[in-house]
Amino acid sequence: MICKHEEKIPIHCEEEMKYKQKGNFRKIDVLVCENCKEEIPMPKHCGVPMLYVDEDYYPVYDLNENEILEMKKAYEGES
Ligand SMILES: [Zn+2]
Ligand SMILES: [Zn+2]
Repeated sequence: MICKHEEKIPIHCEEEMKYKQKGNFRKIDVLVCENCKEEIPMPKHCGVPMLYVDEDYYPVYDLNENEILEMKKAYEGES
């Protein structure tokens, strides 16, 4: 999200995990295995959750410095 570092989607049960948003009040990004319903939190990088991208969902968006600071603050202290 911040530094453009990319990682492959984790594999579970021999298939790529699917991106999903959970929760009503505050959305949480998770990765879900469609086979066994295992959920893992979105991997983090630079202290903020990584952004899920694929061919269908590709939000190209550059954050400015203030937005990066705000985002780091928002996720600070979260386990
Ligand atoms: Zn699985
Ligand atoms: Zn990073």
